[in-house]
Order: sequence, then C-alpha cells, then structure tokens
Amino acid sequence: MLWRDGNRRVHDLVAYARQRFFSVGMTTNGTQPLDAPTDVLWVSVDGLGETHNQLRGAPVFDSIMANVRASCHPRLFAHVTVNAINADEVPRLLVFLNESFHAITLQFYYPYGQEDELFLDFDRREKLLDEVIRLKEKGIRVLNSVAALKALKRNTWTCRDRLIDNANPDGTVQQGCYLRGRAEIDCTKCGFSPHTEISLAFQGNLRAIQSGMRIFW
Ligand code: SF4
Repeated sequence: MLWRDGNRRVHDLVAYARQRFFSVGMTTNGTQPLDAPTDVLWVSVDGLGETHNQLRGAPVFDSIMANVRASCHPRLFAHVTVNAINADEVPRLLVFLNESFHAITLQFYYPYGQEDELFLDFDRREKLLDEVIRLKEKGIRVLNSVAALKALKRNTWTCRDRLIDNANPDGTVQQGCYLRGRAEIDCTKCGFSPHTEISLAFQGNLRAIQSGMRIFW
C-alpha cells in the first residue's frame, strides 16, 4: 500500500499485473486504507485485539478493523497465520472474522530457528484443525479445503513446490518453496497451506481445485 515509483502507486501496479494474470491478489497488514483494486485483498489478522498487537509488536488491531469496516472492496479475505501463541484463540478468531470478512484462509507458522517459541507442535495443530473443520462445516467461511486441512494435520501430502513462483523485491523471480535461499527447508514442519492446496489440486483433488476456484474466480 505504501509502494511508490515516481508518480505510480499500487493502483498502477495492480493494473500492470492485470495485463499479465487472470487474477490479481494482494496481502496487506491492514494498517493503510484498503482501496487496492485487486480481485482479492487479504488482510493478515493473527489474533483478537491484544494477541494480534503482541504478535505484530504494535497496537494496530483497532485501526485495522476500522479500515476493514470502511473498505468497499468486494472480496476482502482475512489471512491467519497460526502459531503457539494464538492457537488457542483461533476458533474464536475465526467466528469473529466471519462477521467482517468475505472469507478466511489460514496457514501455520514455519520455524525459522531451531528453538522457535512460535512453532505449534503437531498434537496441538491436529486438535485445532479438527475444530477448524467443525467450524467450516457449521458455516464459518474458511476457504482452505477440508482435504488440505486434513493433510496439514501431520503433513501427509506430497509437495509440488515448483507450482508457485515468488517474486522478490530485487526483481528476481524464484520458482518453488518460499524458503529456498531464505532458510533451511524442513518439510516435516511445513505449514504453508497455499502449497498444500495447489499440490493437492495438481494431483486432481476436487476439493482443493474448488477451493482455488473460490479464491481466485
Ligand atoms: S517446506 Fe513446505 S512448501 Fe517448502 S518444499 Fe517443503 S513442503 Fe513444500
């Protein structure tokens, strides 16, 4: 949202991307007005009030929700990164976000260090995912497919990481796992749900394909 290049701003960047891609999405921390003309606009929300502020290191939750309420964007999605600190309140957070957003996606925090206190252990992950699936079945608009949520419980999926490219701020484009060149890749600890979803879709899983279509069409 803060991006500038001479007189150009994010609206110009989105228009440029539209010439090349059938769907354009963007993720923001939500602290600026949410007026980017993307097909999908994700806002990262990692907790209710104080938990979000603690994880983000600034008292920004109230201003984010004010920007969400003021936004006219037709497809505003909340994105939750689950970790050891916010995991217990994620079910309540999903119910809360369901009131304010078009839909919700979630992924799990990846530990970038050996002793990373934010990493959620797999027993807690599995229990939480059972609850998320229950909430989804009750009508909370979580867009991750049930297939992906189940596969993430113990990472029982085969990653096709080369189906995703990452464009870096220096202009380079890197194919595959986001961790490549950034951190040690330990697939047993992965929680990158977009990779889970697209890998399952590539294998023909209909739920994963439908999930991608709900997000981008
Ligand atoms: S860390 Fe995750 S996204 Fe990266 S290669 Fe492993 S399973 Fe795929």
